[in-house]
Amino acid sequence: MTLDGPDSGAGTHVPAPPSSRLTAYIIAVCVLGYAGVLTMLVATPWTHAVHAGAVWPTVFLVVAAITGEVKPIRLLHGAGDARTLSTSAPFVLALVPVAGVVVAVLTQVAASLLDDAVHRRDPRKSIFNTAQYAVSVLVAAVVYAALSGTALLGAPDPAHPAHIPSLLAAGLCMIGTNWVLVAGVISLSSGLPIGRVLREDLRDFLLMNMVLLCVGGVAADVAADGVAALVLLGAPVVAAHMFAAAAARHAHDATHDSLTGLRNRGQLYYELDRALEARGAVVAKGPGLVLLDLDHFKDFNDTLGHPVGDEILRQVAARLVDVAPESASVHRLGGDEFAVAVHGSVVEARQVAADLLAALDKPLRIDGLELLVRASAGVAAAPVHGDDSEALMKNADIALYHAKLERDRISTFSPEFDINTVERLRLLADLRGALDSGQLHLVYQPQVALAEGRVVGVEALIRWRHPERGLVRADEFIPLAENSGLIFPLTAFVLEESLAQVARWRAAGHDFRIAVNLSARHLSDQGLPQQVALVLARHGVPASSLVLEVTETAILSDPARADLVLRALRHLGVSIAIDDYGTGNASLSYLKRLEIDELKIDRSFVSNIGADHHDLIIVRSTIALALELDLRVVAEGIEDAATVDELRGLGEVIGQGYHLGMPVVAAELDAYLAAVAPARADAGGPGEGA
Ligand code: C2E
Ligand code: CA
Ligand code: CA
Repeated sequence: MTLDGPDSGAGTHVPAPPSSRLTAYIIAVCVLGYAGVLTMLVATPWTHAVHAGAVWPTVFLVVAAITGEVKPIRLLHGAGDARTLSTSAPFVLALVPVAGVVVAVLTQVAASLLDDAVHRRDPRKSIFNTAQYAVSVLVAAVVYAALSGTALLGAPDPAHPAHIPSLLAAGLCMIGTNWVLVAGVISLSSGLPIGRVLREDLRDFLLMNMVLLCVGGVAADVAADGVAALVLLGAPVVAAHMFAAAAARHAHDATHDSLTGLRNRGQLYYELDRALEARGAVVAKGPGLVLLDLDHFKDFNDTLGHPVGDEILRQVAARLVDVAPESASVHRLGGDEFAVAVHGSVVEARQVAADLLAALDKPLRIDGLELLVRASAGVAAAPVHGDDSEALMKNADIALYHAKLERDRISTFSPEFDINTVERLRLLADLRGALDSGQLHLVYQPQVALAEGRVVGVEALIRWRHPERGLVRADEFIPLAENSGLIFPLTAFVLEESLAQVARWRAAGHDFRIAVNLSARHLSDQGLPQQVALVLARHGVPASSLVLEVTETAILSDPARADLVLRALRHLGVSIAIDDYGTGNASLSYLKRLEIDELKIDRSFVSNIGADHHDLIIVRSTIALALELDLRVVAEGIEDAATVDELRGLGEVIGQGYHLGMPVVAAELDAYLAAVAPARADAGGPGEGA
């Protein structure tokens, strides 16, 4: 087992913040190993170091040991993860009695150095690997000498059958020492308890090594008979390899994704649990979790075919592995979803997320095509976003969902994204599709000049016919659209639809205004006036036919900018109405300075004037003041005839409300217009049909 070795257990992370205990431990192992080797070199009586008759078997065993280390059996190839099985142990073990302890140690040291050089391991790791191997072989030699009664540094003496149990015990000690030494580093650097590290893969470890050790025992025994007998041993070694490889492949298949070779979802939970358990020891914060989902992968798959889709996933996996930190583990959760467990806090996890997405900035090359595959990422980290892997997964998923919807690319979980938000975010996701697929339409609610009972305007209100939820009211989705930027295409749709409809009404001889609602965000959109001018021109509707409704709060959120936009709109000839008047905090004198044309008294005051004297006073004085200031006054939320009568006495007021007419689709409004006689304006309108 080697440090940084693919064979150092199931994806062990060694690099970690160097602690003083870790450094002390590494130094201790190195001193022990190198001092041991030196002592051996000095103390060995070289004159009879190698048994004269065993030269060729020794050469064979040395070559076999080095080959077994440097060319281990590759159990699997996959992005970010490769498992190998070294078979040097039985041959090094056999060398102890056949060629003497010093040859065995030197062989192991040479094999280890060569292996690290071939695999370009960090020299610091190589120094440690070599030392811990040396210690392991020395331990084996001492145990063998003690149990078999042979001299530790004496002349080599091919094992008698009677010594084989001692040799096997020595082999167990050798592999056990190696196991414990490496587990020590892993435990110190990851913060996991050493017992936990040792238990990992214990069964695999024992099984594989027992078989190999037996081979070592036999090898030592038959070495005296010459190379031919040793060569015959190749067969069981190869067989052991194949069985072990098959078993490992099995285990690998159960934990890895077959398409990309990345670890799977189960392994992610395992990684997170391990990291959470290790918290507090060395790693103070984290782990962090980055979930990644490719944008529009389904489109690629559908249009280019599944083989290309698979290749995209493979290449994306490889890029993610390339840029992920060495200590992070990359997983494929299924479909086009990937996850990276990061050993660090939120900040580090976010940085990893940014790096992962940046890795996809360059197009992929597949079959001569250049494909730009983008992704979104959701980030969550312990302990701020959850204390167990379940919570981290759920919250990173919510963050990912958020990133997708907001087109943010990376989103870090926030407690505000609660379950309700998720529901609402789902609705918002549907809303995007609704805009393109014609699920939105407008209804129109008449505005009636109460004195004459004439329809002088209509307010356009948006409706959504959701395929599963049925008719969704504006209140439920307008706030979502406002928060997401989706309000811009939505308003564009409303302007387009409503002005097209007004043009039709005008052609049919109905000359009334249309009121369209604007959201706060439009009031800082300098392009809005021109956009409105274009739509008006396109439909040949005079600007005076359009009323744009804004709320006090919308204006107050950025008065200076709002003033600019409103002025430009008024300059076109469009009139501006203050919607829901009375619910905000703006004084009328202040609003008047902004140049407005119309005041819509909120229905919370109007609907109650029959019963609540205070409301009546507020409505009466507001109407008086507004008329005095030369504003048009609309009373919203008229729900009965008594309210109409009451309002009539207060001046020249326009009324809007269920009693005068429900919001209805254009065709129904036509029927209403045809039917309603001026004198019957207070007699109730059509029921809402949408
Ligand atoms: P709002 O601008 O105050 O629109 C009036 C709301 O009151 C409408 O609800 C309407 O159906 C309802 N209503 C009308 N008469 C009565 C009545 O007599 N009694 C009561 N209780 N309610 C009445 P709706 O259509 O659900 O719209 C809710 C809000 O959603 C609107 O309030 C407006 O702020 C927003 N909204 C609706 N359509 C649009 C749109 O196209 N764009 C934008 N930006 N916002 C919209
Ligand atoms: Ca309105
Ligand atoms: Ca209103």
